[in-house]
Amino acid sequence: EAKRTGGGRHVRFAQAMRERAARRSDIEADLRLALQENQLFVMYQPVVALRADGSTDYSAGVEALVRWQHPVRGVVPPFEFIGIAEECGLIGALGDFVLEQACQDFRGWQRTLGDAAPRLLAVNLSRAQLGQPGWSATVARILTEADVSPHHLQLEVTESLAAQDAQIQQRLHELKALGLTLALDDFGTGYSSLASLHLLPVDTVKIDRSFVSQSESSEHHRVLIEATVKVAQSLGMSTVAEGIETVAQAEVVRALRCDKGQGYLYSKPLTSDALVKWLDEHRTGD
Ligand code: C2E
Ligand code: MG
Ligand code: MG
Ligand code: MG
Repeated sequence: EAKRTGGGRHVRFAQAMRERAARRSDIEADLRLALQENQLFVMYQPVVALRADGSTDYSAGVEALVRWQHPVRGVVPPFEFIGIAEECGLIGALGDFVLEQACQDFRGWQRTLGDAAPRLLAVNLSRAQLGQPGWSATVARILTEADVSPHHLQLEVTESLAAQDAQIQQRLHELKALGLTLALDDFGTGYSSLASLHLLPVDTVKIDRSFVSQSESSEHHRVLIEATVKVAQSLGMSTVAEGIETVAQAEVVRALRCDKGQGYLYSKPLTSDALVKWLDEHRTGD
């Protein structure tokens, strides 16, 4: 009997695995098509500068976030397809699409908004993009074609990526040599450590949402944010607080001297057109 029960469990497990694999290969096939048929698009979330005098500069920057307008499933969020794109070799094409689109949109905002245009464009990177030899030449070409100066571009990497082997470090230095900057995304998650921050070739530290969301209720999390800001400052790095949802959280991270903030309190990710409207409305600051 025990054997039969075990066998039944095995059959159910195998069936679940088959279903998962089938769903994956569905998404994979759909994703190939999505790239050809322009179903992917980019949304932009404002990143604001939190000035010490209590005022807010709404034109500090934006982060580009990819979306997939699936013909049947509707808008698919990135966590459902970035991993698959990485595994099936589509992330290179996807990443280049996001960078190209974002740079073109950025140039458009400079033309239409002038002084109110964002000064920094942050784009997320994945490991496979850095693995490509000579990818920095592609970045240089995309910037030139869009007529965007490299100092406006910031590439976001996670710590597991930035701390990788010597070859990845070399690639990151090649990118920095173009004149762009690097940000460490989701800091505080995984094996992040303040002690090894100085080893990473990054200019900005993005403090993960999980710290910011607990900053009101937990002294421990406030202390960690404060320590991160101090270490970053001492290394000449700036800081961004991710996922600010309340005025109280914004005031906590401002008081702890975070340079910038990002989160639903200011705005959810917006289409390019909606972003232009948002920036225009926030032209004069506070
Ligand atoms: P991330 O780079 O840490 O981006 C921030 C995520 O937090 C975004 O989710 C954003 O919508 C969400 N967020 C921002 N403010 C708030 C807030 O106040 N509350 C809450 N609950 N969430 C907030 P999204 O767009 O779903 O992206 C998830 C992740 O997918 C990103 O995390 C990034 O790691 C990855 N990703 C997005 N676009 C790209 C891309 O073009 N390339 C690559 N390689 N990864 C991307
Ligand atoms: Mg990011
Ligand atoms: Mg992040
Ligand atoms: Mg995050």
